[in-house]
Amino acid sequence: MARPANCSDAEWQARQDLAGCYRIFHLLGWTEMIYNHISLRVPGPERHFLINPFGLHYSEVCAGNLLKVDLAGRVIGDSPYQVNAAGFHPHATLHGAIDDCHCVMHTHTTAGMAVASSAAGLQISNFYAAQLGGRVAYHDFEGITVHADEGQRMLKSIGDKPAVILRNHGLLAWGPRLPVTFYTLWILQRACEIQCAGAALGPALEIPREIQLKCQADAKVVNTNPDFARENFDAMLRLVDRQDRSWRD
Ligand SMILES: [Zn+2]
Repeated sequence: MARPANCSDAEWQARQDLAGCYRIFHLLGWTEMIYNHISLRVPGPERHFLINPFGLHYSEVCAGNLLKVDLAGRVIGDSPYQVNAAGFHPHATLHGAIDDCHCVMHTHTTAGMAVASSAAGLQISNFYAAQLGGRVAYHDFEGITVHADEGQRMLKSIGDKPAVILRNHGLLAWGPRLPVTFYTLWILQRACEIQCAGAALGPALEIPREIQLKCQADAKVVNTNPDFARENFDAMLRLVDRQDRSWRD
């Protein structure tokens, strides 16, 4: 599939970023067969967003085959694919309700699900977790996310926090830009991986509260910087490109 008809330059750039992001997730092993989603708002007044076609692995997602959908999940334009209802709901809820929510990412990584399923949740006991303190929300498990009425409760749980632990389920990040959202999720994922690995070594060494606060303040400046996040993202795209450039079409 090639560039869709009537696709603006801005939409094509969004498609490039999102398709590249799917391939980065594949490279990092953050995939779940044909499940899970990353979504990105299409620039413009409509609340349309781009999302992966249901049935494709992340390694098969390309700029041209991404679906453009409205908040009700209707596909805009021609495509042989449909959207996965269970995965679509949380993304539509956030894109629809939060003006600044342009990108939503959700994963079922083993480390993310393990921390989400642990009674303690994310422990502020490593370099990455300490950066996220105060920016992590928790949403209790209500089963598979196919029921629209969960949306309001999810929004209340999330508030303005960009890193979300979906209890018993997985991780989610959202933000105003794709690279910043990716960086938020990467830090959360790393924090979870280290917590899981460290669990075999006995009780974690807690970080004193004043050091946590200092770390949060310092990290927020860097971790929300769009230029810095873009540099990270572009470096990962170059890594993808050295293996497979098919996502650009
Ligand atoms: Zn999920």
